[in-house]
Amino acid sequence: MPIVAITPCQKPLDYEAAVRRAGATPRPVALDESPADVLHGVDGLLLTGGDDVDPALYGESPHPAFDVAEPGRDAFEIDLVRRALDSNLPVLAICRGLQVLNVALGGTLIQDIPSEPDGLLPHDADGPPTTLAHTVTVTPGSCLAALVGPDETRAVNSRHHQAVRALGHGLVATATAPDGVIEAAEVPAARFCVGVQWHPENFHRTGEFDRLFDGFVEACRTRFRTGETGGTGRTGGK
Ligand code: MN
Repeated sequence: MPIVAITPCQKPLDYEAAVRRAGATPRPVALDESPADVLHGVDGLLLTGGDDVDPALYGESPHPAFDVAEPGRDAFEIDLVRRALDSNLPVLAICRGLQVLNVALGGTLIQDIPSEPDGLLPHDADGPPTTLAHTVTVTPGSCLAALVGPDETRAVNSRHHQAVRALGHGLVATATAPDGVIEAAEVPAARFCVGVQWHPENFHRTGEFDRLFDGFVEACRTRFRTGETGGTGRTGGK
């Protein structure tokens, strides 16, 4: 069974359940681990949600609404995702994870959606985690479209006050909200590198986004079977 590294966050259970349902073993990682060692032993990387990436990492000073993330988490996750992309390890990036991916590739973020001048939609919805907040229009032909289609417009949950502004190198936007906020991006040159701004893991009981996790784990499984550079593949297990 492929192993998926899950970055440290405050609510890991739904990420772990979604990965398990899709047929992989979740491997929660700790901030004091070596990124190189972590990636040597896994078949995919899941970047989880959380508080804000330090805007100094993309050359800005913090907005008053800045919510600082756990000390060391920015550097740890940026190092992890750069290494994962360098070794073509499958990456699924969720919410903050998409923002980490974007900053790691040189992009910038909208620091606080409610403070933007053009009156964007509310993206930080109250209610249970699966509360549907707005729709997203998915770009036809993208990796994401193959996994969340066939509908081009999907209702999603939304618990973020930041979003991608300028895309990082190699990333393309693959979904937008009706207000134009980027809700997903991927790296077409990578085997599997998909980021979404919503929280598909919260739907692991009801299945709305099972295919997204299935596609990610299938990419991890392919790596697992072929061995490549992952630690588990080399052991010859199937
Ligand atoms: Mn949203």
